[in-house]
Amino acid sequence: MQKYLPFRDYFAPRTQEEALQLVREQGPAGRVLAGGTDLLIAMREKGLHAECLINIKRIADLGGIGSLPDGGLRIGATTTLYEVETSAAVRRASSVLSEAAGTIGSVQIRNLGTIGGNVANASPAADTTPALLVLDAEMEILSASGTRIVAAERFFTGPGKTVMEQGEILAAIRIPPSAPGTRTAYIKFGPRQAMDIAVVGVAVALKLDGDGSCRDARVALGAVAPTPMRARRAEVALIGAIDERSVEKAAEEACGEAKPISDVRASGSYRRHLVGILLKRAVKLALAREHAAA
Ligand SMILES: Cc1cc2nc3c(=O)[nH]c(=O)nc-3n(C[C@H](O)[C@H](O)[C@H](O)COP(=O)(O)OP(=O)(O)OC[C@H]3O[C@@H](n4cnc5c(N)ncnc54)[C@H](O)[C@@H]3O)c2cc1C
Repeated sequence: MQKYLPFRDYFAPRTQEEALQLVREQGPAGRVLAGGTDLLIAMREKGLHAECLINIKRIADLGGIGSLPDGGLRIGATTTLYEVETSAAVRRASSVLSEAAGTIGSVQIRNLGTIGGNVANASPAADTTPALLVLDAEMEILSASGTRIVAAERFFTGPGKTVMEQGEILAAIRIPPSAPGTRTAYIKFGPRQAMDIAVVGVAVALKLDGDGSCRDARVALGAVAPTPMRARRAEVALIGAIDERSVEKAAEEACGEAKPISDVRASGSYRRHLVGILLKRAVKLALAREHAAA
């Protein structure tokens, strides 16, 4: 049986100012709509109620990929996952993010879904978020009183929850330039090869010195805690000479740091086991990468 979406009003503002006014006026009854690949399904299948949809996809200032004065990247919130996956600028500056975006859903989903939606939806299993954590990304949040910047690591507060308040919109994601010699990888595990959300996702960024030793390491885990998380003990274990022992130690530490739950998709103990396996694979993959682009 056809289920109709029970919303009262729909707006498609053309400017940020109009959108901010609408989110302010509508209050909790209004929901920002980007690609709709999470929101409309939640309304149709999961009983989420929104009286008014505010489609932000026609606001030019919220889309597109540009550079920042420090050489970093600014990715507008309504940039589609497909654009993030295929953009030469993103691949050059932060290939782990393109890699993560490329694992999401199908081409059709990536053409509709946006990076801002993936982030603002705050699913613990979202694929772009571990990549954003290892890149030290920042969230640009817009409200009537101006713009505030929040580090990706502090942005997520729980499943479906972020630091964003009523009246705020995620405008863009800022990615600082990576140090030369940084190599990265993102690996996710799901029972199927495509169209499956992560049972576990692991992103790594390793900054290597000329002699191949690791000066700085970042490890982030998805789907094993209420929010995406850095595995800091695993990072410490990777500093210095990277060999079988140090990678094994890092995998052990990451397994200990993860706080997975059991659900219909996997048990907590299986998820913990996967963290170690995927961490080892991600480190190996990053080290094998010829080019030192992040
Ligand atoms: C078949 C299928 C497969 C999928 N596979 C994956 C997968 O493998 N990995 C994965 O991570 N996800 C997956 N998803 C989930 C989804 O596609 C992504 O999370 C997508 O990035 C959501 O973006 P959107 O633009 O569609 O967001 P929307 O659905 O429009 O919005 C999602 C939420 O974020 C809010 N929001 C959106 N943009 C903003 C903004 N700029 N400011 C403030 N709030 C905002 C909305 O109000 C809503 O609460 C899948 C979905 C489907 C339907």
